[in-house]
Amino acid sequence: MRRETDHPGHEGRAGLAVLGATGSIGVSTLKVVALHPDRFEVVALSAYQRIDELRALCRTWRPAIAVAHAPEAAAALAQSLVSEGTEVWSGPEALERAVCDPRVTTVVCGIVGAAGLKSAWAAVAAGKRVLFANKEPLVMSGHLLLALARKSGAELLPLDSEHNAVFQCLPAGRPDLVRSGVRRILLTCSGGPFRNTPASEFARVTPEQACAHPRWSMGRKISVDSATLMNKGLELIEACRLFEARPEQVDIVIHPQSVIHSLVEYIDGSVLAQLGNPDMRTPIAHALGFPDRIEAGVARLDLAAIGRLDFEEPDEARFPCLGLARAAAIAGGSAPTVLNAANEVAVEAFLARTLPFAAIPTVIESVLAMRPVVAVESLEAILEEDGRAREAARVAVIAQGAKGVWAC
Ligand code: NAD
Ligand code: MG
Repeated sequence: MRRETDHPGHEGRAGLAVLGATGSIGVSTLKVVALHPDRFEVVALSAYQRIDELRALCRTWRPAIAVAHAPEAAAALAQSLVSEGTEVWSGPEALERAVCDPRVTTVVCGIVGAAGLKSAWAAVAAGKRVLFANKEPLVMSGHLLLALARKSGAELLPLDSEHNAVFQCLPAGRPDLVRSGVRRILLTCSGGPFRNTPASEFARVTPEQACAHPRWSMGRKISVDSATLMNKGLELIEACRLFEARPEQVDIVIHPQSVIHSLVEYIDGSVLAQLGNPDMRTPIAHALGFPDRIEAGVARLDLAAIGRLDFEEPDEARFPCLGLARAAAIAGGSAPTVLNAANEVAVEAFLARTLPFAAIPTVIESVLAMRPVVAVESLEAILEEDGRAREAARVAVIAQGAKGVWAC
């Protein structure tokens, strides 16, 4: 997945498109970029709803292109940016057009969920350097994205902290895991806010509690995924996709301090790990600068102050999402797409307080049981499976709601 090609940005300044610029990843990316005006030029910024924040970012960064979701919001934004030289685009293909702009060399995929699928595909098809925070497109279609990158010459780099850590611990070049002597990939997991909470209390969990992550400050969807451990399940599939690993080559270990971001175990018994403070600016700076190392603005790791590093097995009985994701990874085909779609619908319902926290895995399991596993070999096939699974998940959410089992 890595190729040290001569992307135009390597010589002059890299032209960045930051998708999801108003989100947690977008904001962290722009903090790193601000430290390196000689290296990066912001060409395009996108946001979904927070238009005032997008306007403020455009005033700071003066990108050539801003993409806003709703046409009315885009029109208002365009008016207020007339004198700044920013064109404002909206509509169904605006993101795809933005990433394909010839001034863009590097695309930061910071949109949350399947909403980022088409723009990620467009960036890979256009042969850009593509930095993936947005794990859902990889889960849904990573096998196809890698094949597409081989054709287009796109360079895929992981921003997700665990996958960035694995990438740093693998040999340079494009490693075949077996030939590189890799025995397994070990993804670390903080355990989320309910690491020590008995399952009997899950029915009463509120969105506010689920979004209060002990180590990372993130968007609401990934925060809920971290609370159910589905985030680690999605990351297991993401690792299989990015590193062409089999599901049984990827293990999960709970590590509450979130200092070791992941590890690679070799057949000679060596285990390489990447450590750092839990701050997304480190993996972002690594991928933005790759192969150079650049300043991230992150505090230095103080091991003596941390004192100890703990590890434990994940409890799959309390957190069934992990087992569901592993089963989907093993089943292959459309199963990861279905898992992801059902999870997105269930999490949205939980955040809207129409589904109890404890019923998130129930919805996902019922949708996975309902949808046959089929081969998915095109973007259209992926989108079709995604749509059908969402429909089934909405029905399952209503069925759970009819049971009246939530208490938040
Ligand atoms: P967030 O909710 O903070 O931000 C999401 C961004 O996506 C916002 O800018 C929003 O405007 C945009 N967006 C939302 N829906 C959209 C839509 N339908 N169309 C276009 N744009 C849309 O989320 P985040 O925490 O920054 O996470 C972004 C992605 O990165 C997720 O896939 C997440 O799993 C992944 N990730 C995040 C972190 C983290 O620390 N936040 C770490 C690793 C991976
Ligand atoms: Mg992660």
